[in-house]
Amino acid sequence: MKLMTQYLKGVSTLSLSTENCVGCGECLTVCPRDVLTVSDGKAVIASLDSCIECGACVLNCPANAIQVNAGVGCASAVIASWFTGREPVCDCSGGECC
Ligand code: SF4
Ligand code: SF4
Repeated sequence: MKLMTQYLKGVSTLSLSTENCVGCGECLTVCPRDVLTVSDGKAVIASLDSCIECGACVLNCPANAIQVNAGVGCASAVIASWFTGREPVCDCSGGECC
């Protein structure tokens, strides 16, 4: 079952080039958050604020149609804390994004 929680609004760096997209659906298959969908043969960002910037879609897109700054920021810190059992630590110093 995929998680549907939304975290910080409007901060994900995910972007999509519909011009490059070939509509294969690989990004939907690998996304753990159901962020993307395909409409009229092209991928569409359906829920940007659900993106945890894991980078799986970028790694699996055969058309280089997706960009995201994976492995940085608050989302990455939260994911790392799941695996280490430690408190999340990011570089934003508790500013507006936290
Ligand atoms: S970066 Fe991860 S969570 Fe975000 S759209 Fe891609 S696969 Fe989904
Ligand atoms: S993996 Fe890339 S080419 Fe395939 S549907 Fe997603 S964005 Fe489009």
